[in-house]
Amino acid sequence: MNSRLPGFYKLDPDARLDTVLEAAGLSPEHGAAWRDGGLPLELADRMIENVVGTFRLPTGVAVNMRVNDRDVLVPMVVEEPSVVAAVGNMARIARAAGGFEASCEPSVMIGQIELRDVADPKACVAALEPQIERLICLGDARLPELVGLGGGIRGMEIRTLRYDEPGEKPSDLVVLHFFLDCLDAMGANMVNTVAEALAPELEAITGERVGLRILSNLADRRLARARVVLPPELLGDARFTGAEVAEGVAGAWRFAWADPYRAATHNKGIMNGVDPVVIATGNDWRAMEAGAHAFAARSGAYKPLSTWKVNTDGALVGTIELPVQVGTVGGTLRMHPTVRANIALLGVKRAHELAEIIAAVGLAQNLGALKALATTGIQEGHMRLHARSVAVHAGAEGPEVARVVVALVAAGDFSDTRARAELAALRGAGT
Ligand code: NAD
Repeated sequence: MNSRLPGFYKLDPDARLDTVLEAAGLSPEHGAAWRDGGLPLELADRMIENVVGTFRLPTGVAVNMRVNDRDVLVPMVVEEPSVVAAVGNMARIARAAGGFEASCEPSVMIGQIELRDVADPKACVAALEPQIERLICLGDARLPELVGLGGGIRGMEIRTLRYDEPGEKPSDLVVLHFFLDCLDAMGANMVNTVAEALAPELEAITGERVGLRILSNLADRRLARARVVLPPELLGDARFTGAEVAEGVAGAWRFAWADPYRAATHNKGIMNGVDPVVIATGNDWRAMEAGAHAFAARSGAYKPLSTWKVNTDGALVGTIELPVQVGTVGGTLRMHPTVRANIALLGVKRAHELAEIIAAVGLAQNLGALKALATTGIQEGHMRLHARSVAVHAGAEGPEVARVVVALVAAGDFSDTRARAELAALRGAGT
């Protein structure tokens, strides 16, 4: 499969879909899932409560991506203009340098069982420690299907914590962490099943009272990483040399490293790439967001999830590391026909393959934003794409949309008032 589809963006949506189906070798049945919006009301009604309808968002396909020497077409569900284009553009640059390398740790999620208001934490830990092997067996016994497939609990850790907020009565907590390899599932339900099953055992062993028992979304044993090396000759354009772009991106990263106000926006740019793939594949984007930001703050200061540095050859080297808690099986959304089609398009079966693509897309999107910020500024490209929404909102239809967009870009004015005035002028002129 070749993800390089020149002129893809110029096609209409039907022709794009035909191109994607052909390139990925998918059936017309998959095509129907995208064309119809995919989710019948009766299915939606089985997913959540009090359903009154469904809500559609655009699915775009980012082209040019190459991850671990494999071309991949990336479905992205997102409402924000320029996200899909940025990934495709940066992927086109990266593929000339071999694309993205990515890797992922095993799908280990953390479960927490809290023992609350513990009178003697040392005694509590001493009682638990010799029972760990037995607790692992008891936990695994709750998930025979997962264990049969090769997953299961990989270990446990006992942590002592203290609540000592000034002015309040302090208290001690003992928290058991267990590490569950969820294989190809996101794993939240399985972790919670084990946590609830083990809780009474912990009470029996320690004589203490269990508080909460649930997974942690700070999935820092399930990290995905991606890396790209871009020689300067791939980065320059008519206005900026490759060396200027490389140093500009590295400088933008240093700003994010030094300042949480900037790091928040830097990481938002990464999540612009990550979330649309997480959503397209039916995964829990709240879990993904919570984990990413908690991981970004793990040192006590909020830091960027990526790094961008210029190496001694003058090449720009980008890396990203973040928890990617996604599955290719399980959960409720896998009932969704478009989710199944999106996973088929990605050509992934295993959760780690999906996680690696997500990390690479996050890095590509991050580069797109930093490259624009370090050169022409974000608005030039963004507003050009945003102009389409402004034109449609102002009432432009069919060929009028492109003409209003041209007028807005030429004027550098993307206001609704200007769009309406341009549309009125266009219609008044009878053209
Ligand atoms: P799940 O309950 O569907 O469990 C996965 C199932 O798939 C298991 O029965 C497992 O045995 C089976 N399976 C088959 N083949 C497998 C394979 N190759 N690898 C792994 N499992 C395989 O889903 P889950 O992944 O445990 O939970 C995910 C859901 O939990 C999501 O919908 C998420 O939104 C939700 N959730 C999230 C949170 C949170 O993040 N804080 C909390 C509660 C629930």
